[in-house]
Amino acid sequence: MNRSEIFEKLAHLESNINQINNDMVNLKHLTVELIEENVALQVENENLKTLIDKEEAPKKVENNKKGQLKKPLRSKDNLAMLYKEGFHICNGELFGKHRKGDDCLFCLEVLSE
Ligand SMILES: [Zn+2]
Repeated sequence: MNRSEIFEKLAHLESNINQINNDMVNLKHLTVELIEENVALQVENENLKTLIDKEEAPKKVENNKKGQLKKPLRSKDNLAMLYKEGFHICNGELFGKHRKGDDCLFCLEVLSE
């Protein structure tokens, strides 16, 4: 292998490494976006479940006089878990975004409701 071939190979390798690095950065951004979207959908789903449970709770009591009530609501637990994992659960544009280690008063308000 002569010197010019070595330099050519090095340049080729460097370009491959840069390409891999770019792909890695893009994939990381995509992953963060997907996780944030997933969390937003999860929170929305919990909110809807809470609404449905509130709607159905009185009917359940009437239909079930022996007191076999549905399990207590656990949606607050799930929200608390998501917050603990580092995501915003407050409404607004931060909804589902990563908190990046910062506490959020709006989130804490949602949890204390
Ligand atoms: Zn928040």
